[in-house]
Amino acid sequence: MLFRINSIKLLLLKRNTKSVFRYCSTQQSDDCTQNVANKSVRVRFAPSPTGYLHLGGLRTALINYLYAKAHKGTFIVRIEDTDQSRTVPDAQQNFFRNLEWAGIKPDESVIHGGNFGPYVQSQRLEIYRQQVRKLLENGSAYYCFCTEKRLEMLRKEAQEAKKIPKYDNRCRHLTPLQVAEKLANNDTFTIRFKLESENVPKFNDLVFGEMSIDVTEESDPILIKSDGYPTYHFANVVDDHLMQVTHVFRGSEWMVSTPKHLLLYSAFDWHPPEYGHLPLILNQDGTKLSKRHDHASVDYYRERKIFPLALINYITLSGGGFAREVGTKIRNLTIEELTEIFNIEHINKASSRLNTGYLEDYNRLELIRHIKDPTLCNDVVKQVQELIKRAYPKDIESLDLDEQHIRNVLNWSVNTERLLSLQQLVEGDLSFLWILPKIQSDNIQSEWVGNLVTALEKGDFDKTRLLELLREFSKENNLKYPKFMASLRTMLSGVHYGAGVADMMQILGKTSTIKRITRKKDHKKPTK
Ligand code: GLU
Repeated sequence: MLFRINSIKLLLLKRNTKSVFRYCSTQQSDDCTQNVANKSVRVRFAPSPTGYLHLGGLRTALINYLYAKAHKGTFIVRIEDTDQSRTVPDAQQNFFRNLEWAGIKPDESVIHGGNFGPYVQSQRLEIYRQQVRKLLENGSAYYCFCTEKRLEMLRKEAQEAKKIPKYDNRCRHLTPLQVAEKLANNDTFTIRFKLESENVPKFNDLVFGEMSIDVTEESDPILIKSDGYPTYHFANVVDDHLMQVTHVFRGSEWMVSTPKHLLLYSAFDWHPPEYGHLPLILNQDGTKLSKRHDHASVDYYRERKIFPLALINYITLSGGGFAREVGTKIRNLTIEELTEIFNIEHINKASSRLNTGYLEDYNRLELIRHIKDPTLCNDVVKQVQELIKRAYPKDIESLDLDEQHIRNVLNWSVNTERLLSLQQLVEGDLSFLWILPKIQSDNIQSEWVGNLVTALEKGDFDKTRLLELLREFSKENNLKYPKFMASLRTMLSGVHYGAGVADMMQILGKTSTIKRITRKKDHKKPTK
């Protein structure tokens, strides 16, 4: 139990006065905005490590980051791990890895340091303990000793009466003496907030405008759970205040919690930050992006070597927020450019659908930019090598990871504009590019290979020209065309299906084609 009897007794001596509610109602919002405007902007991305970073989370992080950059402010990442039972051990690591990959660099976090830490809620338990005392003292919070069994009974009764289950506030009315006895008796308790629904303020959402949310059906929210951990609501408010957060941009699913948060600010007599709720991002078919779907996770794209800037542009395209020039040619905007055209007022209120076609376009553009830039291309080559190794683990001994070969393939892809993502290079029929075929017996090769190489060396490697050349060559050398082509295909790819021989040659390029058809068996005796 985190709460000690001594401190509790002290609290019980204080008068159970109702707190003075002060909040940013719509009428007061000028005053509150003023207050925020005088401070430098501090925003935060506050994920719960209950799963890996998904596209919705990435978008929330990005909006906060861009807002901070646009206002020369600070971008904080805070880990909200108050629900220990749902914490995924490596989720935190996954967030930072993916944020870094996406080019979203926190100014303050558990990794990046800062003056407002700790930045992980489970390391701030003492802080919450101190803060909740203030609410117990001023009478805005109270101990609740109701057992899970009793709460379950209340839920059942409500269900039977076809009512929304609601806590009946029984422990609000315990006398100080009763509380002291129960605490002395080591009874399990939670700490609840007195939710006075008539005090619920309207607020001005930076995206949705004036909001008024009814909380009359809500139970008094728990601030501290029986395990001593704070609930999301409590820790979130305390941390936003102590970390001097000025603006909160978060998913619209948190909108309903905002009145509770505002009441908590009032109970503490603190100024709340400004809130802006971001509408949901949906799949192309309008269904909800689920953490359980692969393509909703950032890992899915990173592992497939989608370029981070392509993914960033993709998620900024749906949902608004950017003053894009209409009708301009599609191109990837850099993070700096996005910062310049970002405006929270342009965020749409309606949920937005992702359009996967755009991701392909953006990614192809990034691919071209990377391949054309010698330094960036080095990195792409490395990524392709990694992809190949991962895609063909069984053939690891016979993989063609030659840098020049990879470069040639990449150049082909740029020239033909066929490639949309690096992942496609290791999918479908293209395995021949990377898995070196078994070497053919020397007698097949010796008959005509030499002459063919001489012919191939002369011209360029265009598919139509190659087809003509092969046809001529088979005639001149009295080779049966189908059989000749079949042998060539085996030499080039080791397989009997897939792309046409001339296509293969064109994609492989001159050097790799010649290398493959001239490969000889190693006659050296194996060393003992
Ligand atoms: N921990 C919450 C989440 O994972 C954050 C909500 C907020 O930003 O206030 O979505």
